[in-house]
Amino acid sequence: MTIREGEPLLRVEGLSKSFMVSGGMFRAPRELKALQDISFTVRPNETLGIVGESGCGKSTLGRSILQLLRPELGRVVWLGQDLVATRGEVLRKKRKDVQIIFQDPLASLNPRMTVGEIIAEPLRSLMPELNGAERRAKVAETMKAVHLSPDMVNRYPHEFSGGQAQRIGIARALITGPKLIVCDEPVSALDVSIQAQILNLLAELKERMGLTLIFISHNLSVVRHVSDRIMVLYLGRVVELADGEQLYLHPRHPYTRALLASVPIPDPRRARGRDLKGLSGEIPSPIDQPSGCAFRTRCPYAVAPCAEVRPPLEAVPNHGDVACHRWREIGE
Ligand code: SF4
Repeated sequence: MTIREGEPLLRVEGLSKSFMVSGGMFRAPRELKALQDISFTVRPNETLGIVGESGCGKSTLGRSILQLLRPELGRVVWLGQDLVATRGEVLRKKRKDVQIIFQDPLASLNPRMTVGEIIAEPLRSLMPELNGAERRAKVAETMKAVHLSPDMVNRYPHEFSGGQAQRIGIARALITGPKLIVCDEPVSALDVSIQAQILNLLAELKERMGLTLIFISHNLSVVRHVSDRIMVLYLGRVVELADGEQLYLHPRHPYTRALLASVPIPDPRRARGRDLKGLSGEIPSPIDQPSGCAFRTRCPYAVAPCAEVRPPLEAVPNHGDVACHRWREIGE
């Protein structure tokens, strides 16, 4: 299917996902609302960064886009077709177009399979028409694309470093020729020096193969480095969505501002000009969310109405979308 001018590649509408969690011996199971009414689009060839603390729903969102988790409400419209309403063979064929890279490279690779078998695995289910020689040729070509020597095809995961293992994970995601890759914390488990190599590789592959990326991370400075737009999640809801530079230089939501307070700024003059208050306290349990604005228990700008009414996600002129009653007074 071809993409019409201006049409998003992916449109997520009103996505909600809950889990029932055990209440212990004497209490009934309780509902954990992992995602609540999430809507956004992803344009062809852009990188959308998704950021937030652990427990904010980032990974659940990534898996729900791929239908590895099935949301209860909402739509995930891929090139005009709702994946949530899609099943069986039709969904299987769509999976060729949308792939995922996981956080812990070594843990996500089967230790009993050779690198060649791991990279070729998606071909067996998603491109069964290929014969053995064609599969081997695709594996060699994809290994070269991620700067791994095809001579290493018969080695096992434990023989590779963390950075090399993540290249194997990227090759496995690339081999079916996807249009969109969800990168779920792809560098969090790696040393800082290796992180830069993997980020550069993703940027290179995006450019060369015309990929679109959703880049999930708890680290706003990493997300900023790679993203065209950034979406900030807090307790399963979108609190801010804006162009990457705009969000970084003029954050409007108090949570975004708190996340940015911990990001070092190389230019001391600009750093002095930013009056950002850091995060205080722990993120509340997603099972017992505060009334009104979920961020109010940690927000330095909170006022009485924040406990009563949940702020809607509003379009802010020349910025993006922000869910805060006080966005007019905060930052510009
Ligand atoms: Fe803070 Fe109130 Fe805005 Fe929530 S709505 S972020 S509590 S100022």
